[in-house]
Amino acid sequence: ADVSELLLSHIRDVPDHPKPGVMFKDITPLLADPAAFAALTDTLAALSTRHGATKIVGLEARGFILGAPVAIRAGLGFIPVRKAGKLPGATLRQSYDLEYGSAEIEVHAEDLAAGDRVMVIDDVLATGGTAAASVDLIRRSGAQVAGVAVLMELGFLDGRQKLERALEGAPLEAL
Ligand code: IMP
Repeated sequence: ADVSELLLSHIRDVPDHPKPGVMFKDITPLLADPAAFAALTDTLAALSTRHGATKIVGLEARGFILGAPVAIRAGLGFIPVRKAGKLPGATLRQSYDLEYGSAEIEVHAEDLAAGDRVMVIDDVLATGGTAAASVDLIRRSGAQVAGVAVLMELGFLDGRQKLERALEGAPLEAL
């Protein structure tokens, strides 16, 4: 509870970003505060260890900022899941629906295999579409999903419901 308070006190609400009517949760004040960033990193690393992760996946782009120090802290490798078209090697690709249209994410095929247990890290769970697609992508590689861990969950968007269907019993941790 103390850690949650510390983290929450460093999140800034930005109204009407990126478009009118949206209240954007900005994590940059947290990243700029070394004690809060360290507390977040330590908490996510401990969760990853507890759930038996052997690899850390970060979701582009803020999941990279959080996932990389978590991977180091937990003593695990870091794997980027990127928007389609960015990774240079052979990839697995997963598409998912957006409010208008669709999006695609990718991972290097050689980075994940049967026997891996993957913890997915991102900053904000909104509709759950991105995280659910990453779970599907990881499973298609043959790897297991240890869980998804996010700093923040926007409860009013029901992202948890969508993601829990994809997780099939694996844990969703929201700090
Ligand atoms: P979802 O797929 O709708 O759950 O959206 C989640 C993705 O959008 C994550 O990768 C987040 O980084 C980003 N996102 C959505 N809303 C916010 C926000 O309020 N603050 C920061 N990132 C957000």
